[in-house]
Amino acid sequence: MKVLVPVKRVVDYNVKVRVKSDGSGVDIANVKMSMNPFDEIALEEAMRLKEAGKVAEVVAVSCGVAQCQETLRTGMAIGADRGILVETSAELEPLAVAKLLKALADKEQPQLIILGKQAIDDDSNQTGQMLAALLGWPQATFASKVVLEDGKVTVTREVDGGLETLALTLPAIITTDLRLNEPRYVTLPNIMKAKKKPLDTVKPEDLGVDVTPRLKTLKVSEPAKRSAGVKVPDVATLVAKLRNEAKVI
Ligand code: AMP
Repeated sequence: MKVLVPVKRVVDYNVKVRVKSDGSGVDIANVKMSMNPFDEIALEEAMRLKEAGKVAEVVAVSCGVAQCQETLRTGMAIGADRGILVETSAELEPLAVAKLLKALADKEQPQLIILGKQAIDDDSNQTGQMLAALLGWPQATFASKVVLEDGKVTVTREVDGGLETLALTLPAIITTDLRLNEPRYVTLPNIMKAKKKPLDTVKPEDLGVDVTPRLKTLKVSEPAKRSAGVKVPDVATLVAKLRNEAKVI
């Protein structure tokens, strides 16, 4: 069976992003870009299923500018068998990505699509859910354990009250939470091997998808600066401050 893993190129999680002076967005010029961390987890899970002999092929997909090829090469160095780039310079909203992925799923017929639960740039947490709705497939979001057996997949999810376990029939959508696994490091031999793996490029028009944005960003601003804390000499002063200044007790 085939697994599709959508991987997004995002600003590296170590970079402190700066808001543009006109408040129209964040400045990503000359900033280090990487694979969205939750997508690395998704790919790692797909690789573990393949290594356990339960999956035959893992296909990484990225939607965006030509440089997303680098993200796909990283995906193939982790182990994906091939990559598909849906190339566009348009700004992609989750609904547009979900429509592109739906068109690819119709073509590729995977049994499982594993996405990250959210992209760390827009923090939307929408694409997997929208894709499940468009395809009419069952979905399990925020997976912390995945077991694939006998034509069904069992997913454990972290919920407020503890753990929830869902059984899904295939084909299905899974989105990954942080504790699902610890992704492997990419090795140099695998980076070299990845260069030879097939990478196809298509355009949204080829898939018949209109990616015109539906949302307008009104303003982006920095979070308010936190004021420095103070050290209190003893508990009595702390209690007095909480009562008289913070007025929380
Ligand atoms: P979001 O809904 O934007 O928070 O993204 C959730 C997940 O959807 C990500 O972790 C990726 O797996 C997938 N995704 C979102 N945007 C893209 C993209 N442009 N290309 C590939 N996958 C994407």
